[in-house]
Amino acid sequence: MQIFWNISLLSLPVLTITSLWLVGGIFVGLYIRRMRLRSAVALEELELKHLRLQADAEQQAREMTHSLRESEERLRMTLKYAPDAVFICKKDGRIVYVNDSVIEWLGYSRRELYDMTAYDLVPRDWQAVYRQGASVMLTDNERHVMEIRLVKKDGGKIPMELNAVLLPNGRIYGSCRDITERKLTQRALQDSQENLQRLLNGVAEGIYGVDTQGICTFVNAAFLHILGYEDTGEIVGKNMHDLIHYAHADDTPYPLGECPIDRGCRAAQPAHADEEVFWRRDGTAVSVEYWSHPVVKDGRTMGAVVTFLDNTHRRQAEQEIHQLAFYDALTGLPNRRLLLDRLNQAFAVSDRHNRYGALMFLDLDHFKTLNDSRGHDVGDLLLIEVARRLQSCLRDGDTVARLGGDEFVIVLEMLSCDVNEAVTQAEQVAEKVRDALNLPYQLNQYAHHTTSSMGIVLFRGHQESVDNLLKYADTAMYQAKAAGRNEIRFYDPEMQAALEARIELEGELRSALDKRQFCLHYQVQVNSARLPVGAEVLLRWEHPERGLVSPLQFIPLCEETGLIYPIGLWVLQTACAQLNVWQGSASTRDLVLAVNVSARQFRQSDFVAQVQRALVDSGAKASRLKLELTESIVLENVEDTIQKMREIIMLGVSFSMDDFGTGYSSLQYLKRLPLDQIKIDQSFVRDITSDPNDAAIVRTVIAMTEALGLNVIAEGVETEAQLAFLELRGCNAFQGYLFSKPVSLDAFETLLSKN
Ligand code: C2E
Ligand code: MG
Ligand code: MG
Repeated sequence: MQIFWNISLLSLPVLTITSLWLVGGIFVGLYIRRMRLRSAVALEELELKHLRLQADAEQQAREMTHSLRESEERLRMTLKYAPDAVFICKKDGRIVYVNDSVIEWLGYSRRELYDMTAYDLVPRDWQAVYRQGASVMLTDNERHVMEIRLVKKDGGKIPMELNAVLLPNGRIYGSCRDITERKLTQRALQDSQENLQRLLNGVAEGIYGVDTQGICTFVNAAFLHILGYEDTGEIVGKNMHDLIHYAHADDTPYPLGECPIDRGCRAAQPAHADEEVFWRRDGTAVSVEYWSHPVVKDGRTMGAVVTFLDNTHRRQAEQEIHQLAFYDALTGLPNRRLLLDRLNQAFAVSDRHNRYGALMFLDLDHFKTLNDSRGHDVGDLLLIEVARRLQSCLRDGDTVARLGGDEFVIVLEMLSCDVNEAVTQAEQVAEKVRDALNLPYQLNQYAHHTTSSMGIVLFRGHQESVDNLLKYADTAMYQAKAAGRNEIRFYDPEMQAALEARIELEGELRSALDKRQFCLHYQVQVNSARLPVGAEVLLRWEHPERGLVSPLQFIPLCEETGLIYPIGLWVLQTACAQLNVWQGSASTRDLVLAVNVSARQFRQSDFVAQVQRALVDSGAKASRLKLELTESIVLENVEDTIQKMREIIMLGVSFSMDDFGTGYSSLQYLKRLPLDQIKIDQSFVRDITSDPNDAAIVRTVIAMTEALGLNVIAEGVETEAQLAFLELRGCNAFQGYLFSKPVSLDAFETLLSKN
């Protein structure tokens, strides 16, 4: 640097220039140096900055690596413990990753799984399908969701929802979720829906749902049936106002919104109507009863469910019930119930118009015989034809009803206000009816002929009760029957009184045996020396109010009602018991007791056994018992009677023919009957001394019995003259007031002791 300065001083000009150049150079140098210094600093700063940045970057990288690791770890843990089964597999299905859930659910070890493909985990018959599905899936990056079933190591299957996606690295990521619960719930829901549908379709009511706009949401099978639709598709989604509730019953359309059902659907109010018109698919109307139930959800009206019944069936059923309740099923005529109703109406009409009406009771003669011989089917045909003929005989306002069996009742209205004229009018109708019913009938292959008996009673207003009128007409009808059938009779009050008395008597008679109101009276029978040889037992009814009632008053009724069975048996048993008592005493042991036996009693199939038992039970001697039969009994069925009599005679009992001469006394029978005695009826004895006819009859009877080798006894002997006459003619046994009236047992025994 010093040398440099010396050279400069030597050459000033040059120096100057040089100096200048030098100074300049110095300045430049300084400047450069400064600049150099500056840039060195900057460089240093830059370097520092760089270092700092580098450190930052490294720090960042470290942090990133750390967080990446963390996130990887998190992901790993997430996958590991994810509730879903997660697996990753290669494109060929080979499994490269599974999480713990897969192992847990399927029961394979991780190692086993890594040796398998995903397709090994689905049912064998589905593997091809899934392979196909995977090949499609592998062409896009979308997420694919499907329901599959995975097969566990133990063979069990688990329904799964698979979410699968193709990863950028070409592998397949899949996560499966167990949907067993969901499947069960779905199944249960489906079952319940099916049940509901079945239920809806099973009910007879039509049912449908509508929303607030009146749009149909569902219908049941009955709906389709009642309204003539074939498929729910024709209805669901359509406006019900347009389809079924658009008009009143008279076909005038409801203004929109006025239809009661539409209104009910919008208002959250239940609605019901007995009668509403719905319209069928074919445009015809059907009357229904409906109920509308609002559907409200979270306080909001969603619509309504409407149920309805086809009234047609109900009407038919009501009609059928009415028919059954008020009409006779066989003939279609009104029955008793409707008749009573009509009668009350007829009373009112009669009252209003002050005119007579008539009630006719009609009974077919011998209908039972037809029924028994030809069968009930043929009987029914006759009844139907009779019903038809009766209807054809009557005017419109008149009623003909069937009470049951072969009994019909006719009500005639608006007859004359004059009683005689009314009787004539009623009789004319009755004659017309009788003529119609008398015409021949063709009942299937049988030609038939029938007659009828009719009883008529007139009525005016409400003077008589319905029950009484029916009773009167019935009484008159019986009178017609009694008069020989095919007759018409008007009601007679006297006859009614007798009938009522009879009915009352019957009621009392039924309880008389239990109340021990019966007793036996004994009427002595004597021989020519007037010594008692026995007695006839005669039944007496000791009535608490009427006193002693004659058997003539009640025996026929007992016969009619069958009461004769227990009562007759009681007589037989009591007589036998008495015979047994008498056996103990020398004065009575030879007495014979005669017991009256009625026809019905004798006809009992076990009558012989009854007699036998009465004898055995009492210990009475059979030879002391005599049974009195009447001619009517004997003649009813001769062979049977003879057979029965023989059986009884075998027991040791004898027979007497009571009331002889009053019936069709026929010698032919008489000689065949195993009789011991003939009892001449008191009617012949009474006038025996004054009436030559009776005298002749008695004479003949006695002669006849002699010829036949029979004993004879005369009853009703009241006078010595009668006795003398009878004795003279050869009769040697007698019964009558001349010897004693029928008396009580005590009195009878006193009488015996006097003898
Ligand atoms: P019956 O068998 O011909 O009896 C004779 C009836 O003549 C009796 O009437 C008797 O009291 C009456 N009598 C007897 N002697 C005289 C007389 O001298 N003068 C008159 N005027 N009458 C006389 P009763 O007791 O009223 O019996 C009437 C009928 O009742 C009986 O006629 C008999 O057929 C029936 N009867 C009586 N008791 C029984 C019985 O236990 N069973 C059955 N099935 N019928 C009986
Ligand atoms: Mg008698
Ligand atoms: Mg008699």
